[in-house]
Amino acid sequence: MEELLKQWDGEEVIIRYDKPSGAWIIIAIHNTRLGTATGGTRMKSYSDLKAAVQDALKLAEGMSFKYAVANFPRGGGKAVIHVPNDFDEQKRPELLKRYGSLVCQLGGLFETGPDVGTSPDDMDIIAETGDPYIFCRTPAKGGAGDSGPATAFGVYNGILAVCEHLFDQASLEKKRILVQGGGSVGGHLIDLLIEAGATVMFSDIDDQTVRLLRDKKGLTFIHPDKIFDTPCDIFAPCALGGILNKNSIPRLKCLAVAGGANNQLAESADAERLWGRQILYAPDYAINIGGAMAIIGIETMGWSKQKADKNVSSVRQTLTQIFETAKAEGINTDAAARRIARKRLFGNHGEK
Ligand code: NAD
Repeated sequence: MEELLKQWDGEEVIIRYDKPSGAWIIIAIHNTRLGTATGGTRMKSYSDLKAAVQDALKLAEGMSFKYAVANFPRGGGKAVIHVPNDFDEQKRPELLKRYGSLVCQLGGLFETGPDVGTSPDDMDIIAETGDPYIFCRTPAKGGAGDSGPATAFGVYNGILAVCEHLFDQASLEKKRILVQGGGSVGGHLIDLLIEAGATVMFSDIDDQTVRLLRDKKGLTFIHPDKIFDTPCDIFAPCALGGILNKNSIPRLKCLAVAGGANNQLAESADAERLWGRQILYAPDYAINIGGAMAIIGIETMGWSKQKADKNVSSVRQTLTQIFETAKAEGINTDAAARRIARKRLFGNHGEK
């Protein structure tokens, strides 16, 4: 754990043990050069505290790069609430309120919204003690609501950039797109892709989602075990992190990977593995910023829905810039995106 914290290049980490619930709260502040550290609150059980801290550090860094590559005025931060395996859900509201108090105590160092394991309803509870630092409450409580649709809209625009780069045409007509995860992001993305004329396949592990997409919408279901072996033009991961790795990459039968899931690469070498296989990778932190951008814009900058859509569609230009930089400099797309982001985060030539 000590080594993990020593090696991290972020600004600070706040760790609190919440005795009444047995949960650990970790808030990681990675880089505030461009603005207030802002990122979601992830709530789940990890194998141990170290794994939870590790996730928080990695996710916070991802947020710094996400805002910087998009040139959006926010800093990187993330919170993780590591709940015990046998967590008593009855204790959830009080835990969330104590977490809100902690965010409030930080006095604006960190602002947060939902992530895996938390929802706008949870933000309503956290905001009782954490206001005004909580985004994405339910519309009934004055928030902009679920960020999934805006994230999906950004991913959709990123996929347009992918098609333009690969096929010289930003058209999805008849492109075979395989979406992993038909939840908040994947489900909305699927609707946009169908509307644009793409041939959509999907995979999910949730029976209800499978029934909805396969039986009601008539989409081809790919068994989760077959996801990496299925031929398609674009693979869109919208479920889990770490799925692009030394085992899965050699199996991929796609031309590009472009999806909303966070931390898709198991390790940074995986970007080079994809590049080596001539698979165009849209870096996750560049393509999945739409939700954060729209919610922050609507809740703090007075954006209308139209203005949010217009700004989120800039994901397409961001990705085009990344792809062109990668091509011009002969580096993989993740390295190109990091180079662009580092220049904004650390100045000079992006060197720290
Ligand atoms: P979600 O929980 O609504 O949906 C995830 C879906 O993936 C669920 O339907 C789940 O059943 C499915 N799934 C889980 N494991 C799977 C597997 N092995 N194979 C196939 N499907 C599987 O979550 P979400 O909000 O849609 O987020 C999805 C991803 O996008 C996460 O990595 C999240 O961090 C990232 N993300 C979300 C947002 C947002 O605005 N919601 C923003 C940025 C990034």
